[in-house]
Amino acid sequence: MWVRKRIDIGWGGIGYGLLRCLFPGKAVEHERSIASQLPRPEEAVICFSVRSGFDLLLTALKFPEGSEILLSAMTLGHMADIVRAHGLVPVPVDLDPDTMAPDMNALERSIRPETRILVVAHLFGGRCRMERIVEICRRRNILLIEDMAQALGSGRRWGGGQSDVAMFSFGTIKTATAGGGAVLRVRDAELGNEMRVAQAGYPLQRRMPFAIKLGRIACLKFLGYRFPYGLFRRLCGKLRIDADLVISRGTRAFPGNNLIVMIRRRPHPALIALLSHRLSQFDPRYLRRKTMIGRLLRDELSCMVDMPGKNALAQTHWVFPLCLGNSGEVITKLVAEGFDATARQSMEVIHAPAGREEMEPTRIAEIYDRMVYLPAYPEMGAREIMRMARVLSVTLNGVARGAGK
Ligand SMILES: *Cc1c(COP(=O)(O)O)cnc(C)c1O
Repeated sequence: MWVRKRIDIGWGGIGYGLLRCLFPGKAVEHERSIASQLPRPEEAVICFSVRSGFDLLLTALKFPEGSEILLSAMTLGHMADIVRAHGLVPVPVDLDPDTMAPDMNALERSIRPETRILVVAHLFGGRCRMERIVEICRRRNILLIEDMAQALGSGRRWGGGQSDVAMFSFGTIKTATAGGGAVLRVRDAELGNEMRVAQAGYPLQRRMPFAIKLGRIACLKFLGYRFPYGLFRRLCGKLRIDADLVISRGTRAFPGNNLIVMIRRRPHPALIALLSHRLSQFDPRYLRRKTMIGRLLRDELSCMVDMPGKNALAQTHWVFPLCLGNSGEVITKLVAEGFDATARQSMEVIHAPAGREEMEPTRIAEIYDRMVYLPAYPEMGAREIMRMARVLSVTLNGVARGAGK
């Protein structure tokens, strides 16, 4: 069985992280070496997670209560929770499903005098065209943030140079994971410093939970090989355990309802050391192979089925979503053929707040419930990708005939 998503770290990387739990070294030195890889090192703010960094940013900015924060209408639900925790109002901006970029009409309509920030999420491993967005934000005096959590290595390594803040995540399922951590590029030096000062007051991430997290990542990595994953799925079937749920719980950060307390941490030096190590070892060749495999699958499927984000810029296919009318049936077929497709979403549709019903993101809501994620990575090889495409084609044709009767 081909697992839906590979954890992007090698055994050497996990070993390095565990070793650093014993001999963490100095945080400032690791931070300096991370910063030195950025186009402008002085912009780097190293955080416990993107969620922590975004929260720090809102803390430093101190916008008046009721200020509006525009968010890409599909993103991590926690991003909206963090906005609300600051007494601010998250307002969704609908997306164009073809590119997953903000719909320009929706963006123009969304802006009001109380609008302070726009957060553009670059989704699924591709990027949004930014020129017009940058222009609009400048003209309307809105702080522009790029959420690059899913787009590391799409285009230039540290894309996101046109915005005021760009956020890169190294969480469990992200490209070049370090088992957590985030790098924020903050253009305004004063703002960056205020964030660093606020962060210095936070409790330090504890070492043991980080070591345990690396252990969990090692388990997920082992389970992600084809044979162990097949065994795991069969075992779950026998025991009547929902394998889908086990996998998604295993990768989720900050579960429960204590989000704000949990994200307000300083990253442990061991985490910063691993993050620095992961960046220095970053190999664009793997991402290029992943891009090629994704492209192969896209070209096979493009005439049969809709793919959200298919026309995004520099699409690396970090994940491979499709839009189907009969996802349940298709998933059953794919799973039976050894492809771990899933309809489980880690992101949510952000709904319009009361009084701003006109901002309800209808275009993205319309496809959200029909989305299915396929496994697609270089380890599968072209033959298996083509086999999966055939299974899909046969299933979809069968369904179409059935519906035509
Ligand atoms: C993963 C992700 C985040 C959160 O990153 P963390 O570092 O885990 O907090 C935010 N936004 C998007 C779009 C993501 O995919």
